Amino acid sequence: MNNPTARRPRILLIYTGGTIGMIENPETRALQPFDFDHLIDNVPKLKMLNYVIENVSFTPPIDSSDMSPEHWEEIARVVETNYHLYDGFVVLHGTDTMAYTASALSFMLRNLRKPVIITGSQLPIGEVRTDGEENLITAVQIAAALDRHGDPMVQEVAILFENYLWRGNRATKRSADNFNAFKSHNYPQLAKIGLGINYNEDALYRHHSHEPFSVCYGMDKRIVVIDLYPGLRREVLRYALHTPDTKGVVLRSFGAGNAPTSPWFLDELKDAIGRGMVVYNVTQCVGGSVLPGRYAASDAMVSAGVVSGGDITTEAAITKMMFLFGQGMDNSEVRHNLTVPLCGEMTLPAADE
Ligand code: ASP
Repeated sequence: MNNPTARRPRILLIYTGGTIGMIENPETRALQPFDFDHLIDNVPKLKMLNYVIENVSFTPPIDSSDMSPEHWEEIARVVETNYHLYDGFVVLHGTDTMAYTASALSFMLRNLRKPVIITGSQLPIGEVRTDGEENLITAVQIAAALDRHGDPMVQEVAILFENYLWRGNRATKRSADNFNAFKSHNYPQLAKIGLGINYNEDALYRHHSHEPFSVCYGMDKRIVVIDLYPGLRREVLRYALHTPDTKGVVLRSFGAGNAPTSPWFLDELKDAIGRGMVVYNVTQCVGGSVLPGRYAASDAMVSAGVVSGGDITTEAAITKMMFLFGQGMDNSEVRHNLTVPLCGEMTLPAADE
């Protein structure tokens, strides 16, 4: 039961667009963006929480396929401006690029000690069987939750979808139609949603520094992603590696970080590294890790100067590179930071590896 004397949690909803914000026009039956100024009228159950819920919207709301680093900065700016005014933030976002936004924000929002919960839905909030209403309500509850010390339970960017809360920079969209659309294959859930919200407290991120919250803007888009496949032609690789102004390459390799051993392949990589690019090796597998040197097929890449991404997701690898170059770091600083976790996005290899 709500305690009338308790301070009401203050939550800011940031509506960017996506399926969750759609509602059927009763006259035309067409799907159209939901009017967030009438949020409580459309999701009356939110009233039962007795929170102060306010919202800001992207104008116009966007399909997340149009999301860009400029939009990430817009979201980050809203969080920065309102950081001390709210207990938690809920970002409503399309599912398609949600894991990229979650990863990008995790790097940009430095020393975050409040929840930034990103959610969306597979069915529009205005549909009878929508998953959006439940996702929205649960995300708001998580954004208001406190731990036993009275501090925010979640102090990081996380994705809430259906039955799970995932670390944002560890999650990947895994299904275009399943209500459990996201999963983190290399890191446990932060919470399991069932009858209650059961937090996995050991998995939640906690800062060890006392640095104040700040936002780092300036994501650098000058990176290229290359997906390996059997039959990749030298001209295709060379063309990608000669994209003008490229600073970093995310190389999506096979299995435990393996790539062709042909001399031409390694020569192209060495040439790119010699011209000042940073090449970052991540696996195409959804789970597991790049294990440099485990096979001859990855050994040669290590000697060529390719940096191992361990168990980082592609989404986190891309946004981390954009972030590091965007901070004006030189290549050796970028290379070093790519191998260490900045905010829980990768697992450090065991000391004997
Ligand atoms: N295309 C939509 C988007 O990502 C899909 C969704 O919202 O789930 O914005």
